[in-house]
Amino acid sequence: MEGVNIKTFLAHLERIDRSLLALMSKFRMEEKEGRIFLYTEDKTLKETVERFLKERFGDGFKDRVLVRLEGLEAEKAQEKRETESEGLNKRYSFSNFIVGEGNRLAYEVAYEVAQNPGKIYNPLFIYGGVGLGKTHLLQAIGNACAERGYRVVYKSANDFSEDMVEAIKVGKVKEFRNTYRNIDLLLLDDVQFLSGKNRTQIEFFNIFNHMFLNEKQIVLASDRHPKELKDISDRLISRFEGGVVVEVCMDELTKLEIIKRKLCELKIEVQDRIVESLMKHTSDNVRDIEGTLRGIKLKGVEHLKKNTVSSSSLEKIKLYTAVHFGIKPEELVGSSRSRKVNRARHIAFYLCRKLTDASLIEIARAFNRSDHSTVIYGIKKIEEERRKDRKLNYIISFLEKHIGERL
Ligand code: ADP
Ligand code: MG
Repeated sequence: MEGVNIKTFLAHLERIDRSLLALMSKFRMEEKEGRIFLYTEDKTLKETVERFLKERFGDGFKDRVLVRLEGLEAEKAQEKRETESEGLNKRYSFSNFIVGEGNRLAYEVAYEVAQNPGKIYNPLFIYGGVGLGKTHLLQAIGNACAERGYRVVYKSANDFSEDMVEAIKVGKVKEFRNTYRNIDLLLLDDVQFLSGKNRTQIEFFNIFNHMFLNEKQIVLASDRHPKELKDISDRLISRFEGGVVVEVCMDELTKLEIIKRKLCELKIEVQDRIVESLMKHTSDNVRDIEGTLRGIKLKGVEHLKKNTVSSSSLEKIKLYTAVHFGIKPEELVGSSRSRKVNRARHIAFYLCRKLTDASLIEIARAFNRSDHSTVIYGIKKIEEERRKDRKLNYIISFLEKHIGERL
């Protein structure tokens, strides 16, 4: 049985076993990579033929003639459907989403939607701040459904819009529309970017209605509640609100859980002290938390302080300094040149430099200053005055201690 193909295989059977040959008509046969696959839905037939083949050809046939249940065929079809889905990233699943108070409801509703797409919560609208897991949940729904054979499209509203503009340009609007008529789930991310794009909104409105009427699931994510969306038509907003609207937010316990689980996933062992420090020095944005943890993995814990101290600490320094001087934090980053505000701003620059590892450029950016020479000037001024002015010296010492303890 060298150089096996269907023709030589059948000719061989004809010579050695005609009854076995007769059974072959019950199989769908395929040649692949020098092997023959026999497909059937009948388990008994499969086993019988496997036995016959073994008797006739010994164990050696296994490598060359394989009998498969059509069930596996079904799986193949399933795989094909999975590849028919678009924009999914397998990295995101329900099982690797960490659930806490702030995101429990969103998680549960998303999970339900994945179990019964189009049936219960349609549309589902998830909103919340940056890096809190909205895209993760959309993708988790998409992956769970694609695995079960649903056709899924995940798209950011921006890409949706660009695709549409392109379709118009090349005269393929019909094809564009058809894509969405043939899918089971549409996951549209960052819908705030539909803002002001009237043509896209009209097109999306039609797709939305078509899908909705056909009980196809729509899931939307946005950085804000539908009511807060700007320059999006009222009829779309009312569609967005027509199903379930859930928020994702962050709380201390969820954050702690996320930090611990991610440390574990990255196989980083650290003392509780470091976990505490991570809690304090990272923002609520899970993407930033992940970045910081990867930094630790790469460069060790020593790297932690430098990397994490910056953004949230700068915010705190701004806040405490503003409170101390009885002004608003926005005034510190604004353009006011009043003596009071200017002085407070310079002191805040000075404190940022003293209490964190932020670079001058980072400080300038945090205060909305395009040029860091302003920061250098402010810091120098305070350094000088501090030496001469005892009252100022006292205030700064106090702030250093007071704020330093809270970073
Ligand atoms: P958003 O879309 O809300 O801006 P993402 O879903 O992109 O945020 O999340 C940013 C990163 O943080 C992703 O890598 C995501 O996997 C991760 N992430 C966010 N929330 C969670 C969570 N609750 N559990 C696990 N990972 C999370
Ligand atoms: Mg996102």
